Amino acid sequence: MSSPKDSVEVIPDLYQIRIPIPIRSLDYVFSYLAVDGNDNLLIDSGWPSDQSRKALESSLTNIGVSFSQVKRLVISHLHPDHFGLARLIQEQSPDSKVFMHRADAAGILKSQADFDRFIDELHSWLGTHGTPDYLLEEMLKASKETLRFFELPKPNVLVNGGELIEFGKWSFEVLATPGHTVGMICLYDKRSEILFSGDHILPTITPNVSLGPRYMGNPLGDYLDSLKGLKGLQAKLILPSHEIIFFNLRKRIQEIEYHHEERLAETLRIMAKSHSQSAFEIATNLHWNSGKWEALSPWDKRAALMETLAHLEYLKESEQIQEIRDAGSKKIGFALIKKREK
Ligand SMILES: [Zn+2]
Repeated sequence: MSSPKDSVEVIPDLYQIRIPIPIRSLDYVFSYLAVDGNDNLLIDSGWPSDQSRKALESSLTNIGVSFSQVKRLVISHLHPDHFGLARLIQEQSPDSKVFMHRADAAGILKSQADFDRFIDELHSWLGTHGTPDYLLEEMLKASKETLRFFELPKPNVLVNGGELIEFGKWSFEVLATPGHTVGMICLYDKRSEILFSGDHILPTITPNVSLGPRYMGNPLGDYLDSLKGLKGLQAKLILPSHEIIFFNLRKRIQEIEYHHEERLAETLRIMAKSHSQSAFEIATNLHWNSGKWEALSPWDKRAALMETLAHLEYLKESEQIQEIRDAGSKKIGFALIKKREK
């Protein structure tokens, strides 16, 4: 049985559904269901587990919707706590429209072999950035314990941002907000002035913005641009994927911008201490909210390192630092670009 807390009617015909997930620091993810008569739209679909399925199914049943009646499913981004039960819902509701951003859909791994290749590629790349072998092995073990080859969604409507998903009284605008993933999307309903901010904007924590072999470019630059793009949005209620509902979008955006400015400044201060350092060395010297570097789990160390790399890439793109490649060892380091003396 679902307790009342498992789903809340935020405004008439719009429900927030709490789904437990096996990620220690987060505990649960929210799905949102908008209804109009027999018509409906579900945003995100929990983690691929029995516990998650039971929670989502029982909340939906209490609202009066079964999986087979889900007409539209929007997947905010390609992370397992958001797409988890998408395939199950698709199987039970074969005519449902499944929306996803084209760029995240392009990253869908097709097979176990594809997944294994991805994990190997990721870890050898972390090696070139200075991660010691013993830790690489621990990280690899942690990745394999937490991630496995999940049944991935099969989106049948690929979006770019700017589209309207309309039914009954609802009209959801798709907002492309790359950064947390390359194809992260938020939804905005103008009539109710509600923003579904996904993992893009959370009320107290900042989403992981990572450089990785599948998101090269400048993820932090993309992320900050995406934040800026939402600053002028008329939103009175922000519904995130984790934590709690919040109200002041502009203030939260400014706080997150400030956080990254501080982080970039801290990175530069650490880099000023020696000529060239690997991303790994820099990460070990940064301050981490979840504790000292040594206290982080291998899983968290991996995320922290990829986040450090996103900041380094941003500083590189803005010509404040440069990459130094060792031709022999193929290892990569970073150094400040000295300002020309007057
Ligand atoms: Zn996510």
